[in-house]
Amino acid sequence: MISSGIVTVSYIVAMVLFILALGGLSNQEKASRGNWYGIAGMAIALLATLLGVVTGHYVILFVALLVGGSVGIMLARRVQMTQMPELVAILHSLVGLAAVLVGFANFMDSSMHLVGVEQTIHDIETYIGILIGAVTLSGSVIAFGKLSGRIGGKPLLVPGRHWFNLALLIAVIWFGRDFVLQSAAGGGMTPLMLMTAIALLYGMHMVMAIGGADMPVVISMLNSYSGWAAAATGFMLDNDLLIVTGALVGSSGAILSYIMCRAMNRKFIAVIAGGFGTGGGAAAASGDIDGEVAAIDSEETAALLTNAKEVMIVPGYGMAVAQAQHAVFEITRVLRDRKINVRFGIHPVAGRMPGHMNVLLAEARVPYDIVYEMDEINDDFPNIDVSVVIGANDIVNPSAQDVPDSPIAGMPVLEVWKAATTIVLKRSMATGYAGVQNPLFFKENTRMLFGDAKDSLDAVLRALASRK
Ligand code: NDP
Repeated sequence: MISSGIVTVSYIVAMVLFILALGGLSNQEKASRGNWYGIAGMAIALLATLLGVVTGHYVILFVALLVGGSVGIMLARRVQMTQMPELVAILHSLVGLAAVLVGFANFMDSSMHLVGVEQTIHDIETYIGILIGAVTLSGSVIAFGKLSGRIGGKPLLVPGRHWFNLALLIAVIWFGRDFVLQSAAGGGMTPLMLMTAIALLYGMHMVMAIGGADMPVVISMLNSYSGWAAAATGFMLDNDLLIVTGALVGSSGAILSYIMCRAMNRKFIAVIAGGFGTGGGAAAASGDIDGEVAAIDSEETAALLTNAKEVMIVPGYGMAVAQAQHAVFEITRVLRDRKINVRFGIHPVAGRMPGHMNVLLAEARVPYDIVYEMDEINDDFPNIDVSVVIGANDIVNPSAQDVPDSPIAGMPVLEVWKAATTIVLKRSMATGYAGVQNPLFFKENTRMLFGDAKDSLDAVLRALASRK
């Protein structure tokens, strides 16, 4: 056992390391160092808790650590990059589950003897902790289902859903009052369980009501909730480190939700109210768009690229599915060797999780200084000779600007069509995540290179090599 002083110091060191980790993750070059800070912080936190806070039941603890750790390592090794968003969603649900379980265990703990105001405060902490935990748990499970395609992306809109939500909220407050009163008299289990059931129902209903295009905000919001659930657990267990760590996750998730809302030009409250991405305007959804689709092959693509001076590559979810990032890097290298200026334009909600494209491009060793955020390069498209859209759809859909009743109306998009020529790599004419048809594919200066993005890019690479 180590003294409580050493535990406190270790906790402070861990907190500082967590803050450094978050700071590091805000920048690609420092991201890997940031991860190491996080790992070191977590190792110190675990050790200090094991040696200074835990007082018994070591066998159960080590078995749990061993099982949990092994499952974690196995999952992380096995998961494909495209399944990462689902993994993150399901991990959030575990944080919620932990908060619920700790809350109940804490409530049933007979060794705790609090009275008066202390008892009331503790009860409120327990109640709020279980409430946030249960919403996070069921909401994340539904988000997992939606991201993995097990549940359809269309919003489920129960008639009078706002009234339904309001009724749930009133019930939660009512049972909260009941719980605090009954707990002072030694009871309280019934209102606590009823509230948990309501919170689980609310979490499910909230995420079910959110349409495909709003999912990025939901993911970051659940991330934030999982942080607040952990912070609430920290209050229940009187653990400062958990409070601070939870607050760090909670607030960074909230900031991320704000950034995502801005990226999609949506109001946070409107997202939570749900219903966005419902299907919208007839033209947008039905696909009767005027114009012809012009296909192109890999030889012609290689010719267009070699004759260009300015190339802008816009990757999307399809690049992740095809695992085409390495082929993208090879083509970039060949073109840059031929003195062609190649840049990347990244939409904030490209792919299926925040930063998805940046992670893939970093993995393929694409230099950071040619990767730009949407706001930095969107005005440059008129100066671009060839824009290459790799497995992206919603983020380059002009109907977001032109069709007021489109489900994605108002969402900022990368204006690839303003380049002299736009080449779109995808397998078919299928719609993207939001289920909206894309007029870009029918524009006069657009050429479709059909096929799996990796196969197509490999063919383009071969064609480039033969054009020396
Ligand atoms: P989209 O889902 O709009 O489009 C991806 C396109 O990739 C599809 O149209 C598909 O067409 C194509 N594709 C799929 N597999 C391949 C393949 N192997 N080779 C070539 N093409 C392929 O993705 P975007 O990145 O453009 O937009 C992201 C969408 O996801 C937005 O609607 C966003 O709101 C949503 N979202 C984003 C999250 C985030 O945090 N970033 C989280 C959740 C949702 P085809 O089938 O014809 O090949």
